[in-house]
Amino acid sequence: TNGTAPHPAELDASKLIVTKAELKPIPPLESLVFGETKTDHMLVINYAPGTGWSAPEIKPYGPLSLDPMSSCFQYCPNVFEGMKAYIGPNGEPRLFRPKDNMERLARSAARVALPPFDPKELLVLIKELIKIESRWIPKLPGYSLYIRPTIIGTRPALGVAASDSACIYVIVTPAGPYFRDATKGISLLAVGESVRSWPGGTGGHKLGLNYAPGFLPQRIASKQGYDQVLWLLGEEERVTEVGAMNFFLVVKREDGDVDLITPPLDGTILPGLTRASTLALAEAHSAGKITLPGVPASVKLHTHERPLTMREIDALSTEGRVLEVFGVGTAVVVAPVSRIGWAGKDIVLPVQKQGLGPIGSGMWKMIVDIQTGKVPFEDWSV
Ligand code: PMP
Repeated sequence: TNGTAPHPAELDASKLIVTKAELKPIPPLESLVFGETKTDHMLVINYAPGTGWSAPEIKPYGPLSLDPMSSCFQYCPNVFEGMKAYIGPNGEPRLFRPKDNMERLARSAARVALPPFDPKELLVLIKELIKIESRWIPKLPGYSLYIRPTIIGTRPALGVAASDSACIYVIVTPAGPYFRDATKGISLLAVGESVRSWPGGTGGHKLGLNYAPGFLPQRIASKQGYDQVLWLLGEEERVTEVGAMNFFLVVKREDGDVDLITPPLDGTILPGLTRASTLALAEAHSAGKITLPGVPASVKLHTHERPLTMREIDALSTEGRVLEVFGVGTAVVVAPVSRIGWAGKDIVLPVQKQGLGPIGSGMWKMIVDIQTGKVPFEDWSV
């Protein structure tokens, strides 16, 4: 009335509009390739300057229609999350620490100056989507429904500026065990010439723009016979991450305990939920609150968030003190590393018969049991 624009609408889950799709046949799990199966529905919410967040819609899965000038195609103000829904003991869909994914998504969005949203409202909507898509959650162990919340900048103009318009969409896809034969362990090529992340950079956020520059080094590593890139940083060749997983090193101590070492969250490392869970469960085991399957209660896991260099890993390996190396992330849970190509040689790591060593497999089993609601732990599984 006095010329000021009305306050733009907040993201409001109670305004949800659901349009049911015609249901597709669910393809057999044997033919499942990660990230290719499209389900029946998706969640879509648009933000426009002035009006704010639109009424959220769950509607048939299908193409988005966007202006070719949309900033997502030009300057990459695009962020995403990766989380999973599991089937619990009574057949109910369950999510694992989803609040943390929502908060990380909100931080990522803020980093590329996308319009803010209430993470709690988005979680309510994602839960609705999962209920509607629950028939797509595979019931086999090791399988789950992968959830990909995404936000793209949709400002329809070429000016180099923050996107004042956005689209949140959430799609889901059934997922099996990530690496076809993770039991053998994955091989890594340590890469320092291409850098995934650097001090002051964006590696600590889940931005689309962090991933494309990794595709060429990944292709080169694959051609040399390695499964994934081990991303290094700086002259001292600090280890940062493994492909799209956080890095863990398990080292034997003189007192019979083990050290569990992972690089610190200094802005160059994505704060993974699986990383945080691994550290918390190691600490709970050491405090006698839980016992990791297959790990004697008397063996304490001393956690360290500190820089790790390739030289140190090589020296520990030569001394025979490296017990296990593994990557952790939502997709894999825990993936054992069998060798690391570095400085013209392969550092060969002890990979047990089934791939993971006792700490990695104990951790894997505990996390999966919590995710699938078999073992309660804090408020992690909802
Ligand atoms: N690092 C990177 C670069 C990733 O993309 C991911 C996957 N989100 C992770 C680590 C693991 O994070 P989380 O445990 O939350 O899946």
